[in-house]
Amino acid sequence: MKELIDILKRDRKLLPEEFAALINGMSEEDALYLKEQAFQVKEQFFGNKVFTRGLIEFTNYCKNDCYYCGIRKSNVNAVRYRLTLEDILSCCEEGYGLGFRTFVLQGGEDLRYSDEDIEQICRSIKNKYPDCAITLSIGEKSYESYKRYKEAGADRYLLRHETADEEHYRLLHPESLSLKERKQCLWNLKELGYQVGTGFMVGSPFQTAECIAKDLAFIKELEPAMVGIGPFLPHHDTPFKEYPKGSYELTLRMIAILRLMIPNGLLPATTALGTIHPMGREAGISWGANVVMPNLSPVRVRKKYELYDNKICTGDEAAECRSCLQRRMLTVGHEIVTARGDFIPYTFEAEGKENLCTM
Ligand code: SF4
Repeated sequence: MKELIDILKRDRKLLPEEFAALINGMSEEDALYLKEQAFQVKEQFFGNKVFTRGLIEFTNYCKNDCYYCGIRKSNVNAVRYRLTLEDILSCCEEGYGLGFRTFVLQGGEDLRYSDEDIEQICRSIKNKYPDCAITLSIGEKSYESYKRYKEAGADRYLLRHETADEEHYRLLHPESLSLKERKQCLWNLKELGYQVGTGFMVGSPFQTAECIAKDLAFIKELEPAMVGIGPFLPHHDTPFKEYPKGSYELTLRMIAILRLMIPNGLLPATTALGTIHPMGREAGISWGANVVMPNLSPVRVRKKYELYDNKICTGDEAAECRSCLQRRMLTVGHEIVTARGDFIPYTFEAEGKENLCTM
């Protein structure tokens, strides 16, 4: 397996069957080797710096019904909320004071917000904080809508593909959603010049090593700036409530594999990782992640954005979240920096001659 890891580090890709073999056949010793290689690459590109993004979960309404999601439209027990523009701006104000230079606006696919509303949110934030990046994470939209948001100031877009295997996609989503459409959205976002993020759950129901190999092959093809992965965690009000959690260890290994695939990529140590294990985010950094995303949403709505059970950090104020993460990163020798943390394309031919820690 070490040979495959070396090839991955050198070529930044493997064949799908090699990815599947790596996932299925990795020993503890191989995993340790993988971790060391990933950490080395991360250090080479980013040193001990960790970028931070202020997450604002501004609506938990959604028109979709993904089987794994706690805020799916069929969950009648979800207590719904929307933040106003003023609420959002006050989250940004607090976040800016705490050193955030990226705001991530995340929500379900809520039809109440028109394109004009999203444009207005983007413009208002950009007017007040021109030195900050805006990331949108509001699902599948038309090319035209994505274009409008971009022109209004959005810089980045997160849209997890969740699984790149057609059959698996069908088992996780209702008929109204399709992998083809999801992928097309990602290609559209790329074409429009967004820094694009995708990702998937590790250990979602019915997932196989071959599914993950397809995820990795798709990620290689897309060449995203960001990849967010976390373990599958069940929510008690969804059709998948009885399914087991994804594997913590496999999630960490996937982060390391992604770091070798995308040395200059922005890989978050996700809240899901911190939920499945108390030291999950610290471990994520040690396995190659370089981004954390503390929550800036008002505490009164935090618990309501419950995608899965037992989500952490739902009771702390933004300042507490930030300083808690700062302390946590220090325990693994890393520091959170005040910077936009943009994706910087890298000329691999010039490897060794450039450094991405310019921020
Ligand atoms: S995963 Fe996203 S699109 Fe699917 S139901 Fe949840 S919020 Fe909506």
